Parts: sequence; C-alpha cells; structure tokens
Amino acid sequence: MTTDHPNGSLEHEHHPTARRPADPSLAPRRYRSLFRRVALSTAGVTITPLLIMTGINYYQYSRAIEARTRQPIESQTSNTAHAVSFFLKERESAMRFVVTQGTVTLDCTNSQLQKNLTSLRRSLSIGSFVDLGVIDSDGRQRCYAGPHKLQGRSYKDQDWFHAVTLKGVYISEVFLGFRRSPHFVMAIRHQGPGGSFILRATIDTKELSEQILTIGLRPSSDAFLVNRKGVLQSSSRTYGPALSRCPLAVPHRAEGVHVVERRDEKGHLFLGFSYIDGSPFVLMHIKRAEEAMGSWISLRGEMLTFLGISVILILLVIYFVSRNMVRRIREADEARAQVFHKMEYNNKLASVGRLAAGVAHEINNPLAIINEKAGLLKDRITLSDDDFPQEKKLLANIDSILKSVKRCSTITHRLLGFAKHMDIKFETIALDDLLREVLSFLDKEASFRSIGVSFHVHPETPRIRSDRGQLQQVFLNIVNNAFAAMDDRGRLEITIQPTDHQTVEVHIQDDGVGIPEENLQRIFEPFFTTKPGIGTGLGLSVTYGIVEKLNGSLRVKSEVGKGTLFVVELPVGDPDLLDT
Ligand code: ADP
Ligand code: MG
Repeated sequence: MTTDHPNGSLEHEHHPTARRPADPSLAPRRYRSLFRRVALSTAGVTITPLLIMTGINYYQYSRAIEARTRQPIESQTSNTAHAVSFFLKERESAMRFVVTQGTVTLDCTNSQLQKNLTSLRRSLSIGSFVDLGVIDSDGRQRCYAGPHKLQGRSYKDQDWFHAVTLKGVYISEVFLGFRRSPHFVMAIRHQGPGGSFILRATIDTKELSEQILTIGLRPSSDAFLVNRKGVLQSSSRTYGPALSRCPLAVPHRAEGVHVVERRDEKGHLFLGFSYIDGSPFVLMHIKRAEEAMGSWISLRGEMLTFLGISVILILLVIYFVSRNMVRRIREADEARAQVFHKMEYNNKLASVGRLAAGVAHEINNPLAIINEKAGLLKDRITLSDDDFPQEKKLLANIDSILKSVKRCSTITHRLLGFAKHMDIKFETIALDDLLREVLSFLDKEASFRSIGVSFHVHPETPRIRSDRGQLQQVFLNIVNNAFAAMDDRGRLEITIQPTDHQTVEVHIQDDGVGIPEENLQRIFEPFFTTKPGIGTGLGLSVTYGIVEKLNGSLRVKSEVGKGTLFVVELPVGDPDLLDT
C-alpha cells in the first residue's frame, strides 16, 4: 500500500494518466445504468410485496365490510317483506272470514254487505276496505257496498276475473282510485253450499308506506313497492308518489331476500329486494353506500395514504442508498484504476532507469579514458618547454574537452544514482534541521541573488523515521529547481507541518515562472527538461522515485507567472522507534 493521498487534480498532474484515453469501464454512463438497475430491482422487490399485501388486505377488508353492510339491509328487507305479506294475508283472511261465516252470500242484500264492510273497516285501522262486491260465477256483480254505482256490472271478460276463478285469490296492481289515492283490488273465490261466488274488495294503501314500509328507517334510506315493470306501487321518499317510475331496474325474480349494488343519479347504493308471493309487488329497500360504508371509505383513505407514504419513503431510502452504493463502487473502481496506472508508471520509470544505468555504465569507462588522455595531453603541453604556435588554442580545446567530459560524468553519475536501488537506512530525522542543512548548500547563491528564504515549522511537527541521505537529495532537487525558476530577489517559502494521517508535509513554494499545464504532466518523466544544455531532466524523476520508496507522496500545484508549490508528504513511521 502506498500512503499517497489521491488529491484531485494534483494527482493527475504528476501522473501521465490524464493523457490516456479514458478507461471505458469508468464511463459515467455505466454507473448511471448500474444505479438504475440497482434502484429498480430494489424498488421492485420491496414495493411489490407491499402492494400485494395492501391489495389483499384491501380486498379482504372490503369483503368483510360489505358483508357487514349487506347483513342489516338483508334483515331489514326481510322484516318488511314479512310485514307486507302479513298485511295482504290479514286482509285476505278477513274476507275469507266473512264468507265462511255466511254473513256474505251470493244472495245477500246491499245493506247486509254494507254492514260487513263497516265491521271490516272497523277491525283494520290502516289499509281499510273502500268497497265490497259479490260477483257470481258468470262475472256479474250481484250486490255492492261502496261509493260507486257498480251493481249489475259484468266482469266476465276481465283478466282478473279469470285469474281469481282459476287460482282462488287475486291481488291487483295499484291504481289511483277513489279520491285519487292509491288502491288495489283483492278478490277471493268462495265455494260454499249456496254455490260459488267471488268477493271483491278495493283496499286503500295510502298509509301503507309510512305505517309499514318505512317505519324505523333512517331518513337517507328508503323502502317501497314496485311492480315487475318498475312502476311504484307505494310512495317512495326518493322516487316520488305511487305510480311514478322507479329508475332502478327491477331485479329478476328470486326466492327470498337479496342485496345487490346499484347506482342512480345520486350515486352508489345497496338495494335489498324481495318478491312478495301471491302479489304483483316487489319490495325494494335502498341504502346509500356512503352511509352504509362510511367507516370503510375513511379506512380506505387511511390505507391508501399509508401506502402512499410508505412507497414514497421506501423510494427515497432506495434512491439515497443506491446512489451512495454506486458512488462507493465508483470511487473504489477509480482508486483501483489509479493504483494500476501508478504501477505502470513506476514500472516505466524502473525500466528506463535500468536502461539508463546500463548506458551510463558503458559510457563511464570510455569517458574515464578520454578524461585521462586529455589530462595527459594537457600536462604534456603545459609541462613541455618548447612553445609552439597554436599552444594556447590547443589548451583551450583540451579544456573544453575536459569540461564536456565532466558534464558527461555528472550525467552518468546521476543516471547511476537514479537506477541504484540503494538500501534505505532508517533513522530518526528532524525535518527542519535537514532542510536547513540542504539550504545551507545554497546560501551563497541565495545571498548573491538576494533570494529570501523563509521557514515556518509547526510546533507540533514530530520527528520522522526516514533515510537522511535520500531526503537530502529530494529536497535539494526541489529547491534547486525553485532557485532556477526564480528571478533575483525571489522568495522561497518552506513550511513544515503535521497532517491528520500520521504524516508530515513539507511545502516548498517559490514565486518563479511556474509550470504550464501541458508540462505539469511531464515533469516527472526522466529527461524532461525545459533547460536545454543546463538541465538533465533527471532531478524530479529521481525525486519521485525516492519519495515513493520512502512511502511518501509528491504533489505539485503551479500557476504560470505566479509560482510553483511542491508538497512532499512523508510518513512519520513507527512511533516506537522514533527516539532510538
Ligand atoms: P531539470 O531541472 O534538470 O530541468 P527536473 O526533473 O529537475 O529537470 O525538472 C524538470 C522540469 O520541471 C524543469 O526543466 C522545469 O521546467 C520544471 N520545473 C521543476 N521545478 C520547477 C519550479 N519550481 N518552477 C518552474 N518549473 C519547474
Ligand atoms: Mg532539476
């Protein structure tokens, strides 16, 4: 592991990676699609069960509540249906009673019949008899008691007459009769010793609705009778007086009581219905859905709100978690790619170094020979007494050879040093002392060129474990470069301070020419120099190699015309060994 801290743009500046085509595996598109896939699949596996559970719950609740709603409607409808049947049966029995008692016969007089009508009226408070008539088997009205003049009238061709002759009893649909109030006709056939005849009565149903059908109902509910065609047979709170049309379709005939859901212009409702046997009547009982299921509607609202909030929360959590996760994956990928590129770069440096060392080694020997022979030649000339015409010129040439050889050997020595894998010798070092020592080499030049050097040492800077000789070389290279970059009267600022990561940073800031962007990427390459003839281009590459070897890191920040900052970060090292 390296202790190098990837530091944004700086990191790119001293690695040549920035010039490579971007790694396709690190394309942002890839991470966006990864994010989409992660987020969608997580949302799928979390929200789907939630939706299914809520759906099942919703279904079961609504079934349960519907059953609970239907049940009271059903029983109320059934009770009312019984009451209606009873109403009809009661009147039929009363009529049967008068004929079986023999008080009404085929030959009775109108006044006898009138007496019977009066006593029937007295015995039944509501739905009272309006008139009575006795009809013989030919359909002729034999006698009549009531408000109309129907004596002698023939019913021979009327349907109800055939029906009652056939079935023994007949109940008509409701019609607006006497004084325009609703009536129906009930007729029974009597087979007695005095012959067979039909007793026909008109029955007033004006109070049927209030007294039997809607008794005890809530104002928003309603109960009424209709015929098979949907014409009201009693008045309805919702749909108007008897003989109006009921907008609800009459359900098909079925035994017993049933509850169905219907809709009219006022909305959704539950309809309980029951066919009344032996009559053309169908009892209908309606209850508005919002009243019947009021609690369910609010519960449903709560359920949906809860579902909505949960889904939003889940989606938010998924969004942030996935984003975070993908970001971490991306960071890890990038860190790996960086380490990989750095390894590549170091490899390149190492092989260039080996190559250079080989060359340097080979060149050293001939250089030594040239140096020796040129020296010899010079000695010969200076020591010999006889002057010859071009002596001065020759000596100058020899000096030039010697100077070039010297320069060559400086380069080869540096090359060798660059490649040499010197063993690191760790010792405890106070960085400020070491830097002052390095600067002392440059004292002369600094005072000659009036360059000001300032020093800031953070009081808590620890001493570190590192290699003194190698560090001297590192700082000498950097400070040398800074001096070369600055004009006379330049300023060099050196700051030494600890960091939070068990390292110490040395900042070396000059106010020199600066390094243009395109060069920043190349200054650590061997042989890269902007000082042709003077520079070797090896200083920073050697420096970089050493800092790496010491487990440190090197960063650079520069602005053309303003100056350059080099930061060397070095590990403090094993604290147990520090004071030895
Ligand atoms: P050399 O000093 O022999 O040229 P280096 O490897 O030491 O080789 O430096 C490489 C190049 O980096 C230099 O030629 C110079 O252009 C640039 N450089 C290094 N340090 C600085 C600095 N402090 N200010 C400006 N340029 C610098
Ligand atoms: Mg240099």
